[in-house]
Amino acid sequence: MLSALKKLLPNKVKIFIKSVLKKKKSVSFLPSENLSECLCCGSNSLSETPVLWDSLISEWELSAAEAKYINHQQGFACQRCKARLRGMTLAYAIMRMNSYQGLFKDFVKTPWMRKKKILEINRADWLTQYFNQVPGHLLCTFPEVDIQNLPYAEATFDIVVHSDTLEHVPDPLQAMRECQRVLRRKGFCAFTVPVVIDRLTRLRAGLPPSFHGTENQTSEDYLVHTEFGADVWKLAFQAGFAEVRVFSLEYPAGLAFVFIK
Ligand SMILES: [Zn+2]
Repeated sequence: MLSALKKLLPNKVKIFIKSVLKKKKSVSFLPSENLSECLCCGSNSLSETPVLWDSLISEWELSAAEAKYINHQQGFACQRCKARLRGMTLAYAIMRMNSYQGLFKDFVKTPWMRKKKILEINRADWLTQYFNQVPGHLLCTFPEVDIQNLPYAEATFDIVVHSDTLEHVPDPLQAMRECQRVLRRKGFCAFTVPVVIDRLTRLRAGLPPSFHGTENQTSEDYLVHTEFGADVWKLAFQAGFAEVRVFSLEYPAGLAFVFIK
């Protein structure tokens, strides 16, 4: 029936229909806009739940405005695929590395992505379900694998990904050195970390212990060693990378970093 209909349509009409369908598929976001659909799966069922609690806000010494954007980064999420703003931002950064405009679920099926060797260190938000579509994807998790001492040969991967891991690691510079080591030349490490943009990075050593996760969670995995600030980019050059890119899906809540080897 459909093929009979197709035969009846003049070519001009077919081209018009194709262009309309194509337009609908291509999604592009301007960083100044509020997201109205999930950048990963396309669902427009998005909602926000505040995740910070009072004692964490005071340990972190966040102003009301800072607490608001950190809450947005961690608590704004897709109801369908569960990606949070930070996950969407990470996906956005990786797509932009290939000038792709669209959804992450489609991007992982592109030839460019399918031939990449990808190391995902600790689940990067809810993106594992998408990275799993890439044949060369490898997920490693703590404590079996420690980002500060990766059990892989140098120049093994094209892309290394992590999300909100670096602040929990005793030595983030060593962690980024390891990411740099296992990357091939021109490969890149894409990651997120909570950044308070109007201050400099501070170490929590000597301060009362502070934990991310949920209130009353005091497992070592959630202990915060470093509170990152505007100088987070320095890690790239200290770790031997050649270039830094910062991507903003929503400023300042949705920032992702890409360090290129
Ligand atoms: Zn989604």
